[in-house]
Amino acid sequence: METLKEKILKDGYIIEPNILKVDQFINHQIDVELFIEIGQAFKSHFANQPITKILTVEASGIAVASLTSLAFGNIPVVFAKKATSAITAGKMYQASVHSFTKNQDYQMIVDQRFITKDDCVLIVDDFLANGQASLGLVSIVEQAGATLAGVGIVIEKGFQTGRELLEEKGIDVHSLAIIESFEEGRIVFK
Ligand code: 5GP
Repeated sequence: METLKEKILKDGYIIEPNILKVDQFINHQIDVELFIEIGQAFKSHFANQPITKILTVEASGIAVASLTSLAFGNIPVVFAKKATSAITAGKMYQASVHSFTKNQDYQMIVDQRFITKDDCVLIVDDFLANGQASLGLVSIVEQAGATLAGVGIVIEKGFQTGRELLEEKGIDVHSLAIIESFEEGRIVFK
């Protein structure tokens, strides 16, 4: 997606170690027009799947999922909540995830009422790095016995292992911008 790549080059910057900051338009301030285009791009790729739910993880995934939902004609968005410890009460799907940016583990939690075996789920997220967040969401879809349509990612860091881990499971991974490397502070797209 050219507009996304241009925006990344204009407003994105790299911080150590291998983290791209896009607070200007994704993670803190939001460029809604860009997000509308992101939603439409996911719709074009996954158009032929009978998607009934969009699943993401709080916080930054929520805007991505919401605008993607509108592109699909307003289908329900479910976002996994993050907890620091396992929840024992209630009927929840849970997955343990290691956060790449915070370098700590957390529990991803989704109420079982919101995804069932009858759902066909599209997972979306802002970034794909080592794939742990996406794999946590995949595990929740598996626990529900639902069908997984694929994974839509806004920015993939292609030099990390996420895509490989998801593709090993036969998952269709569609990223709108793939970064091949960070070379001396410069962002190089694939
Ligand atoms: P993964 O689980 O694939 O290792 O990392 C993906 C998650 O970590 C995303 O949900 C995103 O919030 C965060 N993340 C990973 N890499 C980056 C990055 O370079 N920049 C930002 N802003 N977030 C990242």
